[in-house]
Amino acid sequence: MLTIKNLHANINGKEILRGINLQVNEGEVHAIMGPNGSGKSTLSAVLTGNPLFTVTEGEVIFNGKNLLEMAPEDRSREGIFLSFQYPVEIPGVSMTNFMRAAINEHRKYKGMDPISASDFLKLMREKKEFVELDSKLANRSVNEGFSGGEKKRNEIFQMAMLDPKLSILDETDSGLDIDALRIVASGVNKLKTDHNACIVITHYQRLLDYIKPDIVHVLYKGQIVKTAGPELALELEDRGYDWIKQEIDAQ
Ligand code: ADP
Ligand code: MG
Ligand code: MG
Repeated sequence: MLTIKNLHANINGKEILRGINLQVNEGEVHAIMGPNGSGKSTLSAVLTGNPLFTVTEGEVIFNGKNLLEMAPEDRSREGIFLSFQYPVEIPGVSMTNFMRAAINEHRKYKGMDPISASDFLKLMREKKEFVELDSKLANRSVNEGFSGGEKKRNEIFQMAMLDPKLSILDETDSGLDIDALRIVASGVNKLKTDHNACIVITHYQRLLDYIKPDIVHVLYKGQIVKTAGPELALELEDRGYDWIKQEIDAQ
């Protein structure tokens, strides 16, 4: 589904990603862990087409298409969903209108007519239950005055509505209490099928108690320096990142 080869990217001439290689197949959950500042958010930003970053080398193939040549909105329509570390508030735009516009954009891309009012309401109802989203939140402006937990839950709701091929969750766990964490994780787990994939970016192991990764990577100084099974996350919980830094810095 996703193949990243030798990806280099910089911001204002400062190189952040220094040769990322990653292969994500249908049905897989990947965790990307790593110390702060190692480039995790930069990787998700580059995959979704954030114009702040400049790609200087490498390629990214998604669904057989050259992702780096696609506009950010086409990447979304193609089935990439990014859950931000810091969700934005959109005052004056109701959740309902926001979601309907997003869904219709995706449908247009696939050559489909806009969703009917009754189908849309049915979908909203179904997906709200999915993530246990309070109906009152759905009637408010997007994220406006939402607590941290509500924003995250709202994002998983948006993800459920859009049904992406590849979801990238960037530090979805930061600032969540244990109940919100469990609900977010259970939403993510319920959305998982054999035909989609998920990249969970997290500094801590905690989220991975709830979302079980198939493969765990460590990103450090803009490169994936270690790849293993779920046991690697447990080892990092135990030993921290210093041993990896020492191993790599000694090379
Ligand atoms: P992580 O998500 O792993 O904590 P980031 O991708 O956020 O790491 O950051 C990687 C590096 O890129 C850091 O050194 C950070 O300071 C730098 N960086 C990220 N965003 C910007 C920006 N907008 N301007 C300048 N430097 C940035
Ligand atoms: Mg960070
Ligand atoms: Mg980050």
